[in-house]
Amino acid sequence: MRIPLNRHSDTPLYRQIESFLRQGILSGSLSPETRLPASRQLAQDLGVNRITVANAYAELEADGLIASRVGDGTYVLPPYPLPTVTHKGDGKSWPLWQRDLEAQNEEATKPEPDEMLRAAGHPTPISFAVGTGDSHLFPVDDLRRVMQNILRHDGTAALEYGEPNGYGPLRSTIAYILASQGLQTHADNILITSGSQQALALVSQFLLKPDDVILVESPTYSEALSLFRGLRLKVVGVPIDEDGMQVDRLEKLLQQHHPKLIYTIPNFHNPTGVCLSGQRRRQLLALADRYNVPILEDDFVGDLRYDGRAQPALKSLDPGGRVIYVSTFSKMLTPGLRAGFLVAEGPVYDSLVEFKRTYDLATSSVIQRALEAYVTVGRYQTHLRRSCQVYRKRRDAMLLAIHRHLPAGVQVIPPQGGLFIWLTLPDNLSADDLLPLACREGVAFAPGRNFFPEPSSNTSGMRLSFVTQPPERIEKGIERLGKAIRRLSVMS
Ligand code: PMP
Repeated sequence: MRIPLNRHSDTPLYRQIESFLRQGILSGSLSPETRLPASRQLAQDLGVNRITVANAYAELEADGLIASRVGDGTYVLPPYPLPTVTHKGDGKSWPLWQRDLEAQNEEATKPEPDEMLRAAGHPTPISFAVGTGDSHLFPVDDLRRVMQNILRHDGTAALEYGEPNGYGPLRSTIAYILASQGLQTHADNILITSGSQQALALVSQFLLKPDDVILVESPTYSEALSLFRGLRLKVVGVPIDEDGMQVDRLEKLLQQHHPKLIYTIPNFHNPTGVCLSGQRRRQLLALADRYNVPILEDDFVGDLRYDGRAQPALKSLDPGGRVIYVSTFSKMLTPGLRAGFLVAEGPVYDSLVEFKRTYDLATSSVIQRALEAYVTVGRYQTHLRRSCQVYRKRRDAMLLAIHRHLPAGVQVIPPQGGLFIWLTLPDNLSADDLLPLACREGVAFAPGRNFFPEPSSNTSGMRLSFVTQPPERIEKGIERLGKAIRRLSVMS
Protein backbone atom coordinates (compact mmCIF):
# COMPACT_ATOMS: atom_id res chain seq x y z
CA MET A 1 0.00 0.00 0.00
CA ARG A 2 1.38 3.42 -0.91
CA ILE A 3 0.59 6.31 1.40
CA PRO A 4 2.01 9.76 0.62
CA LEU A 5 3.91 11.00 3.68
CA ASN A 6 5.24 14.48 4.27
CA ARG A 7 8.23 14.05 6.57
CA HIS A 8 8.66 17.82 6.98
CA SER A 9 5.10 18.41 8.12
CA ASP A 10 4.15 19.31 11.72
CA THR A 11 1.58 16.49 11.56
CA PRO A 12 3.10 13.32 13.04
CA LEU A 13 3.56 10.42 10.60
CA TYR A 14 1.13 8.16 12.40
CA ARG A 15 -1.57 10.84 12.05
CA GLN A 16 -0.85 11.12 8.31
CA ILE A 17 -1.20 7.34 7.91
CA GLU A 18 -4.33 7.28 10.06
CA SER A 19 -5.95 10.13 8.15
CA PHE A 20 -5.16 8.56 4.75
CA LEU A 21 -6.73 5.26 5.79
CA ARG A 22 -9.67 6.99 7.48
CA GLN A 23 -10.47 8.89 4.31
CA GLY A 24 -10.25 5.68 2.31
CA ILE A 25 -12.62 3.89 4.67
CA LEU A 26 -15.14 6.73 4.96
CA SER A 27 -15.19 7.37 1.22
CA GLY A 28 -15.70 3.65 0.55
CA SER A 29 -12.52 3.18 -1.48
CA LEU A 30 -11.39 0.77 1.24
CA SER A 31 -14.52 -1.36 1.45
CA PRO A 32 -15.68 -3.42 4.45
CA GLU A 33 -13.74 -6.67 4.89
CA THR A 34 -10.67 -5.26 3.10
CA ARG A 35 -7.62 -6.75 4.77
CA LEU A 36 -5.06 -4.09 5.69
CA PRO A 37 -1.36 -4.92 5.36
CA ALA A 38 0.32 -6.27 8.49
CA SER A 39 1.84 -3.39 10.47
CA ARG A 40 5.38 -4.76 9.96
CA GLN A 41 4.83 -4.93 6.21
CA LEU A 42 3.31 -1.46 5.91
CA ALA A 43 6.09 0.00 8.08
CA GLN A 44 8.64 -1.55 5.73
CA ASP A 45 6.83 -0.26 2.61
CA LEU A 46 6.64 3.27 3.99
CA GLY A 47 10.09 3.33 5.60
CA VAL A 48 8.71 4.13 9.07
CA ASN A 49 8.92 2.51 12.48
CA ARG A 50 6.46 -0.31 13.10
CA ILE A 51 5.12 1.51 16.16
CA THR A 52 4.10 4.41 13.91
CA VAL A 53 1.84 2.10 11.90
CA ALA A 54 0.62 0.34 15.05
CA ASN A 55 -0.38 3.75 16.52
CA ALA A 56 -2.28 4.66 13.34
CA TYR A 57 -4.13 1.32 13.42
CA ALA A 58 -4.87 1.73 17.15
CA GLU A 59 -6.56 5.12 16.52
CA LEU A 60 -8.71 3.65 13.73
CA GLU A 61 -9.57 0.65 15.85
CA ALA A 62 -10.57 2.88 18.77
CA ASP A 63 -12.97 4.69 16.43
CA GLY A 64 -14.51 1.40 15.30
CA LEU A 65 -13.31 1.70 11.71
CA ILE A 66 -11.08 -1.38 11.68
CA ALA A 67 -10.64 -4.50 13.84
CA SER A 68 -7.77 -6.91 14.26
CA ARG A 69 -8.66 -10.61 14.32
CA VAL A 70 -6.25 -12.72 16.28
CA GLY A 71 -4.01 -14.80 14.02
CA ASP A 72 -5.75 -13.48 10.92
CA GLY A 73 -5.04 -9.80 10.31
CA THR A 74 -6.61 -6.35 10.42
CA TYR A 75 -9.87 -5.73 8.52
CA VAL A 76 -12.00 -2.74 7.59
CA LEU A 77 -15.32 -2.89 9.45
CA PRO A 78 -18.72 -2.22 7.89
CA PRO A 79 -19.90 1.38 8.45
CA TYR A 80 -22.12 2.19 11.43
CA PRO A 81 -25.81 2.29 10.54
CA LEU A 82 -26.71 5.99 10.33
CA PRO A 83 -29.75 7.34 12.16
CA THR A 84 -32.68 7.92 9.86
CA VAL A 85 -33.80 11.19 11.50
CA THR A 86 -32.03 14.25 10.12
CA HIS A 87 -30.99 16.67 12.84
CA LYS A 88 -30.63 19.81 10.75
CA GLY A 89 -33.04 21.73 8.62
CA ASP A 90 -35.99 19.59 9.65
CA GLY A 91 -37.82 22.00 11.95
CA LYS A 92 -41.05 19.97 11.85
CA SER A 93 -39.53 17.10 13.82
CA TRP A 94 -38.70 19.34 16.80
CA PRO A 95 -41.09 20.33 19.57
CA LEU A 96 -42.11 23.99 19.53
CA TRP A 97 -39.72 25.10 22.30
CA GLN A 98 -36.80 23.65 20.33
CA ARG A 99 -37.82 25.50 17.18
CA ASP A 100 -37.48 28.87 18.97
CA LEU A 101 -33.97 27.89 19.98
CA GLU A 102 -33.17 26.82 16.44
CA ALA A 103 -34.10 30.27 15.14
CA GLN A 104 -31.96 31.96 17.82
CA ASN A 105 -28.99 29.72 17.04
CA GLU A 106 -29.18 30.46 13.35
CA GLU A 107 -29.06 34.17 14.09
CA ALA A 108 -26.15 33.83 16.52
CA THR A 109 -23.88 31.52 14.55
CA LYS A 110 -21.71 33.23 12.00
CA PRO A 111 -18.87 31.32 10.39
CA GLU A 112 -15.62 31.60 12.36
CA PRO A 113 -12.61 33.13 10.56
CA ASP A 114 -10.86 29.75 10.48
CA GLU A 115 -13.93 28.09 8.92
CA MET A 116 -13.99 30.81 6.26
CA LEU A 117 -10.29 30.23 5.65
CA ARG A 118 -10.82 26.49 5.20
CA ALA A 119 -13.79 27.06 2.92
CA ALA A 120 -11.72 29.42 0.73
CA GLY A 121 -9.62 26.36 -0.16
CA HIS A 122 -6.17 28.01 -0.29
CA PRO A 123 -3.46 25.30 -0.52
CA THR A 124 -1.32 26.78 2.30
CA PRO A 125 -3.68 28.64 4.67
CA ILE A 126 -2.20 30.72 7.50
CA SER A 127 -4.37 31.65 10.48
CA PHE A 128 -3.71 34.55 12.83
CA ALA A 129 -7.22 34.21 14.25
CA VAL A 130 -6.75 31.80 17.16
CA GLY A 131 -6.57 32.95 20.78
CA THR A 132 -4.30 30.28 22.29
CA GLY A 133 -0.53 29.77 22.61
CA ASP A 134 1.41 27.39 20.35
CA SER A 135 0.58 23.89 21.63
CA HIS A 136 3.57 22.45 19.71
CA LEU A 137 5.87 24.05 22.29
CA PHE A 138 4.28 22.06 25.10
CA PRO A 139 6.43 19.05 26.13
CA VAL A 140 3.74 16.39 25.84
CA ASP A 141 6.11 13.55 26.79
CA ASP A 142 6.92 15.22 30.13
CA LEU A 143 3.23 15.46 30.93
CA ARG A 144 2.67 11.84 29.91
CA ARG A 145 5.39 10.69 32.32
CA VAL A 146 3.99 12.90 35.09
CA MET A 147 0.50 11.46 34.55
CA GLN A 148 1.83 7.90 34.68
CA ASN A 149 3.66 8.64 37.93
CA ILE A 150 0.56 10.19 39.45
CA LEU A 151 -1.57 7.15 38.71
CA ARG A 152 1.20 4.83 39.92
CA HIS A 153 1.87 6.67 43.20
CA ASP A 154 -1.46 8.28 44.11
CA GLY A 155 -3.66 5.46 42.80
CA THR A 156 -7.36 5.88 43.47
CA ALA A 157 -6.80 9.08 45.52
CA ALA A 158 -6.13 10.75 42.17
CA LEU A 159 -9.50 9.59 40.92
CA GLU A 160 -11.71 11.02 43.64
CA TYR A 161 -13.48 14.39 43.68
CA GLY A 162 -10.97 15.90 46.10
CA GLU A 163 -11.28 19.13 48.07
CA PRO A 164 -14.00 21.50 46.83
CA ASN A 165 -11.57 24.43 46.50
CA GLY A 166 -8.99 22.31 44.66
CA TYR A 167 -5.97 20.10 45.36
CA GLY A 168 -4.14 21.64 48.36
CA PRO A 169 -0.55 21.21 47.07
CA LEU A 170 -1.51 22.81 43.73
CA ARG A 171 -3.06 25.77 45.56
CA SER A 172 0.20 26.16 47.55
CA THR A 173 2.23 26.02 44.35
CA ILE A 174 0.04 28.68 42.77
CA ALA A 175 0.48 30.84 45.88
CA TYR A 176 4.30 30.55 45.44
CA ILE A 177 4.10 31.41 41.73
CA LEU A 178 1.92 34.44 42.50
CA ALA A 179 4.29 35.55 45.30
CA SER A 180 7.19 35.41 42.81
CA GLN A 181 5.18 37.84 40.69
CA GLY A 182 4.54 40.19 43.60
CA LEU A 183 1.06 38.99 44.53
CA GLN A 184 1.05 37.79 48.14
CA THR A 185 -1.77 35.41 48.87
CA HIS A 186 -2.51 32.24 50.78
CA ALA A 187 -3.39 28.80 49.40
CA ASP A 188 -6.68 29.07 51.34
CA ASN A 189 -7.71 32.05 49.24
CA ILE A 190 -7.27 30.18 45.97
CA LEU A 191 -10.05 28.28 44.21
CA ILE A 192 -9.06 25.99 41.33
CA THR A 193 -11.50 26.13 38.42
CA SER A 194 -11.98 24.33 35.11
CA GLY A 195 -10.21 26.98 33.07
CA SER A 196 -10.44 30.66 33.90
CA GLN A 197 -13.61 30.80 31.79
CA GLN A 198 -15.32 28.93 34.61
CA ALA A 199 -13.93 31.40 37.13
CA LEU A 200 -15.42 34.27 35.09
CA ALA A 201 -18.73 32.42 34.90
CA LEU A 202 -18.83 31.65 38.64
CA VAL A 203 -18.09 35.21 39.69
CA SER A 204 -20.45 36.94 37.27
CA GLN A 205 -23.23 34.46 37.83
CA PHE A 206 -22.87 34.54 41.57
CA LEU A 207 -22.61 38.32 42.03
CA LEU A 208 -24.99 39.55 39.33
CA LYS A 209 -28.56 38.88 38.25
CA PRO A 210 -30.29 39.61 34.91
CA ASP A 211 -30.41 43.34 34.03
CA ASP A 212 -27.54 44.22 36.37
CA VAL A 213 -24.85 46.33 34.72
CA ILE A 214 -21.28 45.13 34.23
CA LEU A 215 -18.56 47.53 33.05
CA VAL A 216 -15.99 46.12 30.65
CA GLU A 217 -13.23 47.53 28.49
CA SER A 218 -14.40 48.31 24.98
CA PRO A 219 -13.23 46.24 23.17
CA THR A 220 -12.83 43.16 25.39
CA TYR A 221 -12.54 39.34 25.33
CA SER A 222 -15.38 38.13 23.09
CA GLU A 223 -16.21 34.98 25.10
CA ALA A 224 -16.57 37.07 28.26
CA LEU A 225 -19.04 39.23 26.34
CA SER A 226 -20.95 36.13 25.25
CA LEU A 227 -20.98 34.89 28.83
CA PHE A 228 -22.28 38.20 30.23
CA ARG A 229 -24.89 38.49 27.49
CA GLY A 230 -25.94 34.88 28.12
CA LEU A 231 -26.55 35.82 31.76
CA ARG A 232 -28.73 38.69 30.46
CA LEU A 233 -26.48 41.33 32.01
CA LYS A 234 -26.33 44.88 30.64
CA VAL A 235 -22.81 45.27 29.33
CA VAL A 236 -21.45 48.82 29.25
CA GLY A 237 -18.09 49.56 27.61
CA VAL A 238 -15.33 51.83 28.89
CA PRO A 239 -13.10 52.97 26.01
CA ILE A 240 -9.47 51.89 25.91
CA ASP A 241 -6.28 53.50 24.62
CA GLU A 242 -2.57 52.60 24.60
CA ASP A 243 -2.52 52.75 28.43
CA GLY A 244 -5.51 50.46 28.88
CA MET A 245 -8.97 51.34 30.18
CA GLN A 246 -9.58 55.11 30.12
CA VAL A 247 -10.16 55.33 33.82
CA ASP A 248 -10.93 59.07 33.67
CA ARG A 249 -14.22 58.13 31.93
CA LEU A 250 -15.11 55.65 34.63
CA GLU A 251 -16.57 57.87 37.34
CA LYS A 252 -19.33 59.17 35.09
CA LEU A 253 -20.24 55.64 34.06
CA LEU A 254 -20.27 54.51 37.69
CA GLN A 255 -22.68 57.32 38.56
CA GLN A 256 -24.83 56.77 35.50
CA HIS A 257 -25.15 52.96 35.51
CA HIS A 258 -24.53 51.78 39.11
CA PRO A 259 -22.68 48.67 37.88
CA LYS A 260 -22.42 45.57 40.06
CA LEU A 261 -19.01 44.52 38.68
CA ILE A 262 -16.04 45.89 36.70
CA TYR A 263 -14.38 43.28 34.47
CA THR A 264 -10.87 44.19 33.31
CA ILE A 265 -7.87 42.57 31.58
CA PRO A 266 -5.03 44.84 32.73
CA ASN A 267 -2.10 42.89 31.20
CA PHE A 268 -1.68 42.27 27.45
CA HIS A 269 -5.36 42.85 27.01
CA ASN A 270 -7.44 40.65 24.72
CA PRO A 271 -7.84 41.80 21.94
CA THR A 272 -5.60 44.91 21.88
CA GLY A 273 -2.44 43.67 23.68
CA VAL A 274 -2.15 46.89 25.74
CA CYS A 275 -1.37 47.14 29.50
CA LEU A 276 -3.09 49.34 32.05
CA SER A 277 -0.64 51.99 33.30
CA GLY A 278 0.46 51.96 36.95
CA GLN A 279 -1.29 55.26 37.67
CA ARG A 280 -4.58 54.08 36.16
CA ARG A 281 -4.41 50.88 38.22
CA ARG A 282 -4.43 52.93 41.41
CA GLN A 283 -7.18 55.23 40.15
CA LEU A 284 -9.31 52.26 39.15
CA LEU A 285 -9.02 50.72 42.59
CA ALA A 286 -9.78 53.97 44.33
CA LEU A 287 -12.91 54.54 42.22
CA ALA A 288 -14.15 50.98 42.62
CA ASP A 289 -13.69 51.33 46.36
CA ARG A 290 -15.46 54.69 46.50
CA TYR A 291 -18.46 53.35 44.55
CA ASN A 292 -18.43 49.98 46.32
CA VAL A 293 -18.04 47.92 43.14
CA PRO A 294 -15.98 44.69 43.04
CA ILE A 295 -13.31 44.30 40.35
CA LEU A 296 -12.88 41.07 38.38
CA GLU A 297 -9.23 41.09 37.22
CA ASP A 298 -8.53 38.65 34.34
CA ASP A 299 -4.77 38.07 34.16
CA PHE A 300 -4.83 35.43 31.41
CA VAL A 301 -1.27 35.93 30.09
CA GLY A 302 0.39 38.13 32.73
CA ASP A 303 3.52 35.88 32.69
CA LEU A 304 4.13 36.21 28.96
CA ARG A 305 6.14 39.46 29.04
CA TYR A 306 8.82 40.00 26.39
CA ASP A 307 10.02 43.46 27.36
CA GLY A 308 9.15 46.50 29.48
CA ARG A 309 8.41 46.59 33.19
CA ALA A 310 5.60 44.64 34.84
CA GLN A 311 2.99 46.69 36.70
CA PRO A 312 1.59 45.32 39.96
CA ALA A 313 -1.54 43.19 39.70
CA LEU A 314 -4.64 45.10 40.82
CA LYS A 315 -5.05 42.30 43.34
CA SER A 316 -1.64 43.06 44.86
CA LEU A 317 -2.76 46.67 45.47
CA ASP A 318 -6.00 45.53 47.06
CA PRO A 319 -6.00 45.99 50.86
CA GLY A 320 -8.37 42.98 51.00
CA GLY A 321 -11.63 41.76 49.53
CA ARG A 322 -12.07 44.31 46.70
CA VAL A 323 -10.56 42.48 43.74
CA ILE A 324 -11.26 38.93 42.54
CA TYR A 325 -8.22 37.83 40.58
CA VAL A 326 -8.52 35.19 37.83
CA SER A 327 -5.77 33.44 35.90
CA THR A 328 -5.13 30.27 33.92
CA PHE A 329 -2.59 27.68 32.82
CA SER A 330 -4.18 27.63 29.35
CA LYS A 331 -1.93 30.15 27.65
CA MET A 332 1.31 29.51 29.56
CA LEU A 333 0.96 25.72 29.24
CA THR A 334 -1.92 24.38 27.20
CA PRO A 335 -5.71 24.97 27.13
CA GLY A 336 -6.79 21.31 27.11
CA LEU A 337 -5.78 20.89 30.77
CA ARG A 338 -8.74 23.14 31.63
CA ALA A 339 -6.95 24.45 34.68
CA GLY A 340 -7.54 27.96 35.93
CA PHE A 341 -7.99 29.58 39.32
CA LEU A 342 -9.28 32.58 41.19
CA VAL A 343 -8.02 34.41 44.25
CA ALA A 344 -10.47 36.09 46.61
CA GLU A 345 -10.85 36.88 50.31
CA GLY A 346 -13.70 37.26 52.72
CA PRO A 347 -17.22 35.86 52.54
CA VAL A 348 -17.16 35.93 48.75
CA TYR A 349 -14.41 33.29 48.71
CA ASP A 350 -16.48 30.83 50.76
CA SER A 351 -19.56 31.55 48.68
CA LEU A 352 -17.66 30.97 45.43
CA VAL A 353 -16.25 27.66 46.71
CA GLU A 354 -19.75 26.52 47.56
CA PHE A 355 -21.13 27.79 44.25
CA LYS A 356 -18.41 25.96 42.33
CA ARG A 357 -19.25 22.78 44.26
CA THR A 358 -22.89 22.93 43.25
CA TYR A 359 -21.88 23.85 39.71
CA ASP A 360 -19.66 20.88 38.81
CA LEU A 361 -18.60 19.29 42.15
CA ALA A 362 -14.88 19.53 41.37
CA THR A 363 -12.20 20.15 38.78
CA SER A 364 -10.46 16.96 37.62
CA SER A 365 -8.27 15.58 40.42
CA VAL A 366 -5.89 13.78 38.07
CA ILE A 367 -5.21 16.93 36.09
CA GLN A 368 -4.67 19.02 39.22
CA ARG A 369 -2.20 16.50 40.62
CA ALA A 370 -0.37 16.21 37.30
CA LEU A 371 -0.18 19.98 37.03
CA GLU A 372 1.18 20.27 40.55
CA ALA A 373 3.87 17.65 39.88
CA TYR A 374 4.74 19.29 36.57
CA VAL A 375 4.96 22.81 37.95
CA THR A 376 6.90 22.06 41.16
CA VAL A 377 9.77 20.37 39.39
CA GLY A 378 10.57 23.64 37.68
CA ARG A 379 9.51 22.51 34.23
CA TYR A 380 6.95 25.28 34.29
CA GLN A 381 9.61 28.00 34.61
CA THR A 382 11.70 26.40 31.86
CA HIS A 383 8.68 26.12 29.59
CA LEU A 384 7.71 29.70 30.30
CA ARG A 385 11.21 31.02 29.54
CA ARG A 386 11.27 29.08 26.29
CA SER A 387 7.78 30.23 25.27
CA CYS A 388 8.74 33.86 25.97
CA GLN A 389 11.87 33.51 23.81
CA VAL A 390 9.95 31.99 20.91
CA TYR A 391 6.99 34.38 21.18
CA ARG A 392 9.21 37.46 21.40
CA LYS A 393 10.83 36.51 18.07
CA ARG A 394 7.41 35.93 16.52
CA ARG A 395 6.10 39.26 17.78
CA ASP A 396 9.13 41.03 16.31
CA ALA A 397 8.70 39.14 13.03
CA MET A 398 5.07 40.25 12.81
CA LEU A 399 5.82 43.89 13.61
CA LEU A 400 8.56 43.91 10.97
CA ALA A 401 6.33 42.22 8.40
CA ILE A 402 3.53 44.72 9.12
CA HIS A 403 6.00 47.54 8.54
CA ARG A 404 7.19 45.94 5.30
CA HIS A 405 3.96 44.72 3.73
CA LEU A 406 0.99 46.72 5.00
CA PRO A 407 -0.02 50.14 3.68
CA ALA A 408 1.38 53.04 5.70
CA GLY A 409 -2.07 54.11 6.98
CA VAL A 410 -2.52 50.91 9.02
CA GLN A 411 -2.13 51.71 12.75
CA VAL A 412 -0.46 49.27 15.10
CA ILE A 413 -0.04 49.13 18.86
CA PRO A 414 3.21 47.16 19.51
CA PRO A 415 2.57 44.88 22.52
CA GLN A 416 5.15 44.18 25.24
CA GLY A 417 3.89 40.64 25.75
CA GLY A 418 0.90 38.34 25.44
CA LEU A 419 -0.50 36.88 22.24
CA PHE A 420 -2.03 39.65 20.15
CA ILE A 421 -1.38 42.66 17.94
CA TRP A 422 -4.26 45.03 17.26
CA LEU A 423 -4.40 46.77 13.87
CA THR A 424 -6.65 49.57 12.71
CA LEU A 425 -7.29 49.79 8.97
CA PRO A 426 -7.00 53.17 7.23
CA ASP A 427 -9.83 55.18 5.63
CA ASN A 428 -12.52 53.43 7.65
CA LEU A 429 -12.02 50.22 5.70
CA SER A 430 -14.02 47.45 7.32
CA ALA A 431 -12.25 44.39 8.77
CA ASP A 432 -15.44 42.38 8.05
CA ASP A 433 -15.20 43.27 4.36
CA LEU A 434 -11.50 42.46 4.40
CA LEU A 435 -11.86 38.98 5.91
CA PRO A 436 -13.29 37.15 2.86
CA LEU A 437 -10.67 38.76 0.60
CA ALA A 438 -7.91 37.82 3.03
CA CYS A 439 -9.19 34.22 3.23
CA ARG A 440 -9.04 34.01 -0.53
CA GLU A 441 -5.39 35.13 -0.33
CA GLY A 442 -4.88 32.38 2.30
CA VAL A 443 -4.79 34.28 5.60
CA ALA A 444 -7.32 34.78 8.44
CA PHE A 445 -7.57 37.12 11.44
CA ALA A 446 -10.20 37.97 14.06
CA PRO A 447 -12.28 40.98 12.94
CA GLY A 448 -12.69 43.59 15.67
CA ARG A 449 -16.46 43.83 15.74
CA ASN A 450 -16.89 40.71 17.90
CA PHE A 451 -14.93 42.29 20.73
CA PHE A 452 -17.09 45.36 21.22
CA PRO A 453 -19.96 45.45 23.69
CA GLU A 454 -21.91 47.90 21.53
CA PRO A 455 -23.03 46.46 18.18
CA SER A 456 -22.24 49.48 16.00
CA SER A 457 -18.72 50.31 17.22
CA ASN A 458 -15.41 50.11 15.45
CA THR A 459 -15.37 48.03 12.31
CA SER A 460 -11.85 48.90 11.17
CA GLY A 461 -10.05 47.15 14.06
CA MET A 462 -8.73 43.60 13.86
CA ARG A 463 -6.80 41.18 16.09
CA LEU A 464 -3.82 39.19 14.89
CA SER A 465 -2.28 36.42 16.99
CA PHE A 466 1.49 36.32 16.51
CA VAL A 467 2.27 33.25 18.63
CA THR A 468 1.06 30.23 16.67
CA GLN A 469 3.07 30.61 13.45
CA PRO A 470 6.83 30.50 12.88
CA PRO A 471 8.46 33.73 11.56
CA GLU A 472 8.56 32.64 7.87
CA ARG A 473 4.83 31.97 7.86
CA ILE A 474 4.15 35.20 9.71
CA GLU A 475 6.00 37.11 6.98
CA LYS A 476 4.08 35.25 4.26
CA GLY A 477 0.71 35.73 6.00
CA ILE A 478 1.20 39.46 6.48
CA GLU A 479 2.30 39.82 2.86
CA ARG A 480 -1.01 38.17 1.85
CA LEU A 481 -2.90 40.46 4.20
CA GLY A 482 -1.23 43.48 2.56
CA LYS A 483 -2.46 42.28 -0.85
CA ALA A 484 -6.00 41.85 0.47
CA ILE A 485 -6.00 45.36 2.04
CA ARG A 486 -4.83 46.91 -1.23
CA ARG A 487 -7.54 45.05 -3.11
CA LEU A 488 -10.19 46.26 -0.65
CA SER A 489 -8.94 49.87 -0.93
CA VAL A 490 -9.35 49.72 -4.70
CA MET A 491 -12.87 48.29 -4.39
CA SER A 492 -14.03 50.85 -1.78
N1 PMP B 1 -9.68 35.32 29.63
C1 PMP B 1 -9.21 35.70 28.43
C2 PMP B 1 -8.87 37.14 28.23
C3 PMP B 1 -9.05 34.77 27.40
O1 PMP B 1 -8.59 35.16 26.21
C4 PMP B 1 -9.41 33.42 27.64
C5 PMP B 1 -9.28 32.34 26.57
N2 PMP B 1 -9.27 32.68 25.30
C6 PMP B 1 -9.91 33.09 28.90
C7 PMP B 1 -10.03 34.05 29.87
C8 PMP B 1 -10.38 31.69 29.24
O2 PMP B 1 -9.38 30.74 29.09
P1 PMP B 1 -9.39 29.34 29.85
O3 PMP B 1 -10.78 29.02 30.22
O4 PMP B 1 -8.81 28.39 28.86
O5 PMP B 1 -8.52 29.53 31.05
